[in-house]
Amino acid sequence: MLNLARVIATGRLMHHAGETRSFTGRAQARLAQMMGVEQALLVNSGTSALIVALKAAGIGPGDEVLVPAYTWVSTASAPLFLGAIPILVDIDESLTMDPADLERKITPFSKAIIPVHMLNLVCDMDSIMAIATRHGLAVIEDACQAVGVTYKGRRAGSIGHLGAFSFNHYKNVTSGEGGAVITNDGHLMRRAEVYHDIGTFSADYSVQDWDFVGCNQRVSELTSAVLLAQFGRLDKDLQNRRRRRARNIDRLLPLSGAKVSPHHDPDAAVGLTLTFENSQDAKEFAAQHSAVTRIGDIKRHDYVSWLPVLQHCGADPRTNPLLSAQRKVTYSADMCARTIDILSRTCLVA
Ligand SMILES: *Cc1c(COP(=O)(O)O)cnc(C)c1O
Repeated sequence: MLNLARVIATGRLMHHAGETRSFTGRAQARLAQMMGVEQALLVNSGTSALIVALKAAGIGPGDEVLVPAYTWVSTASAPLFLGAIPILVDIDESLTMDPADLERKITPFSKAIIPVHMLNLVCDMDSIMAIATRHGLAVIEDACQAVGVTYKGRRAGSIGHLGAFSFNHYKNVTSGEGGAVITNDGHLMRRAEVYHDIGTFSADYSVQDWDFVGCNQRVSELTSAVLLAQFGRLDKDLQNRRRRRARNIDRLLPLSGAKVSPHHDPDAAVGLTLTFENSQDAKEFAAQHSAVTRIGDIKRHDYVSWLPVLQHCGADPRTNPLLSAQRKVTYSADMCARTIDILSRTCLVA
């Protein structure tokens, strides 16, 4: 509230590139410091963050981008928006991208991987980074649902070449709408800055940094003022959630007949899911406990629910990326059956 009042009192509701004392400049510096990276760029949504990050990494027409079959549709639509082609990778019981299936889905046309830290559950980043290095692929972490969460002592989003965050109403940190891109690479950050700011600003940058027109994906000072205040509360919130996870394991696990789902950094885990032997047991357990939801019943983040993708849409029918793909790619409801099976046997504990 105080920050918002300050912005309104100054009458300057907009940040300009390069300003460091604005709320946006300060929030970017704070976010970079908190995440342990060189640079952060605030943008107007998590979807924008993914698009800006892909553009920064040079992803475009014909390029294949490996995405998990369980994520919010933005992870798959961001590459399509840029003319690239999402390739679906099964998840494993950790509910994150299965490195073995990732390796199977790589082709000569693969250019980037978007591992997604769903529900505050971190991906197997060691395996994913090793695969990316072996095949020369860019890694853009979608940490929209895991802002602040750590993997082996590093923050989700800070491990790949670029990381993307969302600050929409449902995320760990919120300004109603909002997002951010983080990276340690100055060249990638310059491209991100130029693209999110209409492709015109930052005249001091070398012309090699861009060969595209941009969009306006900037944030207002009002958003940044809210974020700056929220960042201060994040670590305490996450600590509380870690404790809640421990309490829920003690309370619910003995009643469930399930196992705690495999987790890639159990000591620092924030989210909690339980894996059952079969979908019926998961369904019954969810029906008995108000804080428990069978993930297969949510029908929003599984690839079968990504209607525009399953219907083979692009940004425009005339420039549909699938028409100019370097090989035939199609999507169908049964293409990642293992993901659907796992989701039907897994319960989220709130
Ligand atoms: C929320 C979310 C996004 C998109 O964020 P918006 O701010 O709503 O655009 C992208 N990926 C994942 C995994 C998300 O949960």
